Amino acid sequence: MILIVDDKPVNLFSLKRILELNDFAVDTASSGEEALRKILKNTYALVILDVQMPGMDGFEVAEAITGYSKTKDLSIIFLSAVNTDKRFIQKGYASGGVDYVTKPVDPDILLLKVKTFYKLFEQTQELTRMQESLREEIEFRKRAEEKKDEFMTIASHELKTPLTSMKAYLQLLARSVDDANVDTRRVYLQRTLTQLDKLHGLVADLLDISKLENGKLQLNKHIFDFDKLVTSTIDMIHQTTPAVLITRKGKADVEVYGDDVRIEQVLMNYLSNAIKYSPDKKDILVNTFVSDKGELVVEVHDKGIGIPLEKQELVFQKFYRAEDSSNRFQGLGIGLYICSEIIRLHGGSYGVKSTPGEGSVFYFSVPVLSEIHTTHSNNIVNRLNALNEDNL
Ligand code: ADP
Repeated sequence: MILIVDDKPVNLFSLKRILELNDFAVDTASSGEEALRKILKNTYALVILDVQMPGMDGFEVAEAITGYSKTKDLSIIFLSAVNTDKRFIQKGYASGGVDYVTKPVDPDILLLKVKTFYKLFEQTQELTRMQESLREEIEFRKRAEEKKDEFMTIASHELKTPLTSMKAYLQLLARSVDDANVDTRRVYLQRTLTQLDKLHGLVADLLDISKLENGKLQLNKHIFDFDKLVTSTIDMIHQTTPAVLITRKGKADVEVYGDDVRIEQVLMNYLSNAIKYSPDKKDILVNTFVSDKGELVVEVHDKGIGIPLEKQELVFQKFYRAEDSSNRFQGLGIGLYICSEIIRLHGGSYGVKSTPGEGSVFYFSVPVLSEIHTTHSNNIVNRLNALNEDNL
């Protein structure tokens, strides 16, 4: 928008008309004070400013305008009937003006100047916008670099911990090789294997992350029995951590078309987290049911530390670790992100409900291909039909 400032209504009217006829949006002010008020409130591309006005004259208005950072880029064209002297023109430029037109105004010349300044304003605005988005982009990349560095530090630390333990147990084993005590050696060997499992899990997660980044996480899909998957995953946990109590509720008698190894990974991750983040009460419930939408829902309930409401939606984000728990529990903050991507690739959903101090319920769902008892009854019907046909 263009602001015309002139104390004479007739001048305001004629200039406004010329500009409006050329498709410019125009605002007017009949004194320097009114002009300043408007400039502070609105954004103008250009001000056409009469020099001789009672009260604040045009030069004073221009000086005030250029003093405000908001109006730094505002162009001013001075209009003057009498001050055509060179020193007045110089004063106009010194007070921040960019052009000086003497009256009587040639409308064509004024229009050409207005168009040029208007274009300049638009280009300046575009440049400012580009500068702003570049600044945001640079800031984002910094931040990303910082996050990566932080992750590298945590990852190296996490990898070093099981390695150091393995080294220690293997040294103990080496020293006790000639020892007759087989049980001691068995303990060292078992502890080495436990640490090796941890290391293997960490490296597998890191590889998954890079596969996800490159869009190369591929699913090996086939039809499988979901209930068997739940049972075998819980069995695996019981074998490695016998002290943990895991109970089951509901059935999962359905067939699912998906990658059973990856879905097992999700359930395993939920269960390992439930154990890890329940330092006092390792009492876990796995509930499975088919929802109204025909999806199989798996819920893992724990009685652990819980997660505050504002952090619940963040836990599935890459590298996110709830601050309160990050010092007390080891982890890379990528397990749940990998789980969420696996479930997303299966067309399912996931989430968490939690109360700090009471526990959490992590859940995921996957579309069901068919309910197994239905398949069985269909098979029986088919077989009966076949028998009938044979008998006819
Ligand atoms: P990690 O456990 O390696 O930090 P995850 O991606 O598995 O990474 O989990 C992200 C964060 O979510 C964890 O750091 C923890 O703060 C929180 N979290 C996950 N599972 C639970 C749980 N069962 N109870 C409480 N907090 C949890």
